[in-house]
This record gives sequence, structure tokens and C-alpha cells, in this order.
Amino acid sequence: MNQTETQKMYRQLGISEEVRAYGQKIEESLKDRFRQFDETAEYNQLKVLHAMQENRVSEGCFNYVSGYGYNDQGRDTLEQVYASVFHTEAALVRPQITCGTHALAIALSANLRPGDELLSPVGKPYDTLEEVIGIRPSKGSLAEYGVTYRQVELLEDGYFDYPAIEAALNERTKLVTIQRSKGYQTRPSYSVEKIGELIAFIKERRPDVICMVDNCYGEFVEYIEPSDVGADMIVGSLIKNPGGGLAPVGGYIAGKEELIENCAYRLTSPGLGKEVGASLGVMQSFYQGFFMAPSVVCSALKGAVFAANIYEKLGYPVVPDSTESRHDIIQAVTLGTPEGVIAFCKGIQAAAPVDSYVSPEPWAMPGYDSDVIMAAGAFVQGSSIELSADGPIKPPYAVYFQGGLTWTHAKIGILKSLQSMVDAGVISAEKLKEQ
Ligand SMILES: *Cc1c(COP(=O)(O)O)cnc(C)c1O
Repeated sequence: MNQTETQKMYRQLGISEEVRAYGQKIEESLKDRFRQFDETAEYNQLKVLHAMQENRVSEGCFNYVSGYGYNDQGRDTLEQVYASVFHTEAALVRPQITCGTHALAIALSANLRPGDELLSPVGKPYDTLEEVIGIRPSKGSLAEYGVTYRQVELLEDGYFDYPAIEAALNERTKLVTIQRSKGYQTRPSYSVEKIGELIAFIKERRPDVICMVDNCYGEFVEYIEPSDVGADMIVGSLIKNPGGGLAPVGGYIAGKEELIENCAYRLTSPGLGKEVGASLGVMQSFYQGFFMAPSVVCSALKGAVFAANIYEKLGYPVVPDSTESRHDIIQAVTLGTPEGVIAFCKGIQAAAPVDSYVSPEPWAMPGYDSDVIMAAGAFVQGSSIELSADGPIKPPYAVYFQGGLTWTHAKIGILKSLQSMVDAGVISAEKLKEQ
């Protein structure tokens, strides 16, 4: 197939020659960045492969297990594979963990008791955790069970206020929660190294405090994970990075044996713990997804950097910026108007393999405090390791873009978002030609 045929296909998708050519120029400038992502993926692929071999993953691990799930070999072996990859004593990896918020809620409620205090030294946590903690009152929150919460705001530069963190630690502080990814904020996402410094600071003062990292969107972005720099527990969702786009549901918690045991007792029941919870035929997708994850994350990172460059050069603030190092797969682009956010998301949706013909609209999603527009024409509902974008309809009107099972699809999706903004009159076609 020659270049002209590809150009024809772009036009068929509604992407103009100006938009395609602009994207081509940006892509060519990113060769070195892309090579670095490939190198990280190569290392992480070796890490996962080694863990699967070391734990003797076999065909039997993919068997369907129902009922109580006693002696579910596939489930138990997969948990060892996760523990090997993350260098932890244990892991809980289950389809019964319904999402990332649920995994975090389990990790918190399993390891906190009435009278304990939870500390976030990194400012406001992810929106859905506000109800888990009870920052916004909710049935069954930690607050209802007598767990108090304290938060230390970030400094102007988005990093840690060490003196204030020191002052916030007290004899009731039991667990510290550190969110690696920016989530729906414009602060930086933290490198594993920075998280390690924060954990060391806390452990020097209070070695007994449990340090938990919300690792959502961070897995396999770097050579190391927060569990390599002192985190006692790391938590994430399988419809993000570690599911590799194949896991249809699930979450994981990896960490110290005793903490993970508490999580298992909380997830199932006191006395039963890890012994129950049938894997119901999802194991092959969990294993295969975890195997694919380093390479899928690499594609998503290429898409994120491509988007940063595309939009920064058109004058939009982007976090991270076009040249910064990456610590998660999220790309924030501040479009400044509701129309911009909506046009961007409609473009992403129109480039999807599934539901491309539907037009997303803002709505009041449970767990969020403003209307949110979400674009996700995904094979797995709501999966954000697949090409997706979401934008809360509130200032500064930023979109959070992430995912892409393949680099080429991420590229096509971003070009379609740009085209959609041109078509909506948010960006002028003239401006593209000037670049
Ligand atoms: C996605 C996410 C969560 C919550 O995960 P859900 O699967 O959407 O419940 C929590 N924290 C961060 C940083 C996330 O990105």
C-alpha cells in the first residue's frame, strides 16, 4: 500500500489533509522519545515474562473454576505472578474487585480501624475517594466508621510540603495514601523516585505507618514501581494498565503479606480471606492482558506525547508538557471552554472501533462532583487503557486523554479529535497551516 492509499483512508475517516500532514510532522519529531518508550517496554516485558516462567504458569491456570473457588490454581498462581513483578510478598488480583475505587476502598477499610487517622500528603485524592473517605458524606464511608482524615496541600509547584507533612503525622496516623497519577487535576504526576523520597521521609519519622500508593495509570510506565521504593501496598485497576486491554473487569492490591491478608478478609469475609472467590473463566484474559501490558502501555505513552505535542504547538497548556518525562499515561490538555472539551471528546469517540456513531454528552456520573463528558468506544465498558478521553465540565475546562491499545489507533484518534475541533470552529484550519 502506498502513502496515497493511506491518505485516502484518512479522508474517508473525515480527517483532512491539513490535519494529517500536521500530525505527520509532529510524529517525525518524536522518534527519540518513542525509542525510549520502546526500551522501557522491553525491560518490563522481560520482567513479566520472567515472573510467568518463574511461577510455572501452565495451561491449567486458564481452567474455568466456579462455586467457592477453593484451590483455584489459576487465580493463586496469577497472584504470585503479580507479586513477583511488583517485588512484593503477596498480591490480591480478582474479578470480584469491581474497579479501581473498590480496590482502594478495600485496601483502606481493611487496614484502618475506628480511631485511626488516614493522611493524604499529596493534596486532594481522586474524586471517587472523597466518598470512600467521607470528605463528601456517604453511606458506609470511613468517616462513618470513626476513621478520621487529614490532608496536606501541595506546594505551588505541585510537590510536597515536607514541614506540613511532618506536622500532620500524629500518634493516630495509621495509613498514608499517595496518588501517583494526577487524576482529574493539573498537578504533576509523580515519578516513582519522588514517591520513594516521600515514603522515606514518612518512614524516618514513623516507621510503623502504612504507605499505600494509588498506582492507577502508572504501571509499566517506568522501570520501577512504587513497591520498589518502600510502598507497603500498591493498588490499581485491571481495566487500566495492568489488564493490557484484555481483562474484562478486576483490580489488584500488591504488598506486604499481612496487609494483603487483611484485604482478602475484607473483600470476602473474616475467616475466609483468599481461599474463596472463583475466577469464573477470566484467568486467560488476566494472564494474557498482563503479558501484553508493557507493550500496550508503551502505545498509550506514544499517544500521550503525540497529543501533548499536537496541542502545545497550537497554544494550549498541556500537562505534562511536550518534552517532560512521563510517570503515567494521562495527558491533560486545557482547552479553556466547554465547547473545546466537548468537540475533543466527540472526535475521540468518532475514532473508536465500537460505538463510533454515538455522540457523547456531558452527564452527572456517580462519584463525581460536576458533569463529565466521556468518550470511550471501548471493547470493555469504561476501559481507559483503550483510547478514551474524559472532561469534567468545570474550569479550567481540561480534557484528560489516555490509552490506545495500539500506537496507530492512538494517533488516528488524536488526529480525529483535532479534526473535530476544527470542524466545530474551535481551531481554525489556517492555524494548522501556519505550524
Ligand atoms: C481511575 C482511578 C481511580 C479509580 O478507578 P475506577 O476504576 O475508575 O474506580 C482511582 N485513582 C486514580 C488515580 C485513577 O486514575
